[in-house]
Amino acid sequence: MFNPKDVKNAPFWWDEAPRPVREPASVPKETDIAVIGSGFTGLSAALTAARAGRQVTVFEAQEPGHGASSRNGGGVGATPFKIKYSEAEAKLGRDAAVRLYKEGIASVTHLEHLIESEQIRCHYKRSGRFTGIHRADAEPGLRKEVELLQDRLGLDVRMIARADQQAHIGSDFYLGGRFSAHDGVVHPGLLHQGLLERVEAAGVAVLGHTPVLNVQREGAALTLQTPRGSVKANKLVVGTNGYTGGAIPWLERRFIPVTSNIIATQELDPALVRRLVPKDNMIIDTKRTVHYYRASPDGKRILMGGRPAMREAHWSVSARMLYDFMGKVWPELSGVGITHAWGGRLGFTFDKLPHIGEHDGIHYAGGYLGSGVAMSNYLGHKMALQAMGEPAGETALDNRSFPTMPFYSGNPWFLTGVAAYYRFRDRFG
Ligand SMILES: Cc1cc2nc3c(=O)[nH]c(=O)nc-3n(C[C@H](O)[C@H](O)[C@H](O)COP(=O)(O)OP(=O)(O)OC[C@H]3O[C@@H](n4cnc5c(N)ncnc54)[C@H](O)[C@@H]3O)c2cc1C
Repeated sequence: MFNPKDVKNAPFWWDEAPRPVREPASVPKETDIAVIGSGFTGLSAALTAARAGRQVTVFEAQEPGHGASSRNGGGVGATPFKIKYSEAEAKLGRDAAVRLYKEGIASVTHLEHLIESEQIRCHYKRSGRFTGIHRADAEPGLRKEVELLQDRLGLDVRMIARADQQAHIGSDFYLGGRFSAHDGVVHPGLLHQGLLERVEAAGVAVLGHTPVLNVQREGAALTLQTPRGSVKANKLVVGTNGYTGGAIPWLERRFIPVTSNIIATQELDPALVRRLVPKDNMIIDTKRTVHYYRASPDGKRILMGGRPAMREAHWSVSARMLYDFMGKVWPELSGVGITHAWGGRLGFTFDKLPHIGEHDGIHYAGGYLGSGVAMSNYLGHKMALQAMGEPAGETALDNRSFPTMPFYSGNPWFLTGVAAYYRFRDRFG
């Protein structure tokens, strides 16, 4: 039974990995490398720079990890791009498309190395991902992608016939699908908590409740204004993604904040959860209004996510929509209780690709389009290397123009129309 009164409006992940509540240290007068944002992008950048011997300060508007990094579904994907491989090859040519897609695989390798070398206990598992086909006419496109990903990248992806899909999802809802063996799941709250601990142990000051209000540049010198004082920085790296505000207007005009929501069920019989998600894998589907879901790491709950409204709606409205969808996939879950419901902001871009680069002396990485768990850690690391002038910071995403739209200044008024159009296309093709 879904009753908003019984539901906690906070991420399920925060039960085990609560956000740190503490007084931030004072703002230093100077820092070598300033980082804005304490999500995966910012913390990975901070860790890389600190381990290279640089003096680093992280500025966070809320409590550390307040943004998407501790709120997401925990799906780790080796093909995280919104642009399909076939589309990338048609647009960029074969070599560039292969280079781009290899960055997705590299991001998973990077994350796995980070978790292992830093000994972060976060229930990471390379359990794969099932993509369910929602309409028969989505099948040929998915099959073509599978063939290309096998041929061009040697990825372990395969089509799953409807008769065999019960091995990947205990439901007849989809018409078969795709299984991607290179993908996995993680507890994002614990991943973030572990990363924060390593960053602080490396000597970085992470200043919560210290929003950067604006950045001024005089020659090579940068000055960051915060309500608690201003700081001069030699280098500035920015990881604000879907939470980018007016502090850096150039970036605000390029990131599109899109809201995504998740609900968590009450504890269920673990045998039932095992039957519904037999491989402990991530599940998504071919819809434009995609749903993403999984079992909780303890195998007792289902976490169902999606972007029902795309724009900020009251959490209970989005939660209700997710609950209704869950009942369609698994009728046996109609009537179960919901304990947590929450939302967070993704960073979309106008060209449907993530971006890393430098503008006016400010380094940035973001625009992960809802698939940033591995990519944000990877590009955060690369951004720090680029800011330090290290050739190892090179990526296939470098030197690309970062488009915006005339009259767009950070308020995505068009998303309501986009969401309606997506729902129409999902239903009628
Ligand atoms: C509900 C949800 C589900 C998702 N599911 C998945 C998934 O299953 N798999 C996947 O790969 N990806 C998923 N994502 C996307 C993924 O979480 C993000 O791409 C990734 O966490 C982005 O990390 P980040 O560090 O760039 O940004 P964030 O973690 O959002 O951090 C940005 C931070 O910047 C801070 N900030 C902004 N402006 C300022 C300022 N002026 N001064 C100081 N601080 C500032 C914000 O407060 C925020 O804490 C999901 C996202 C959401 C919201």
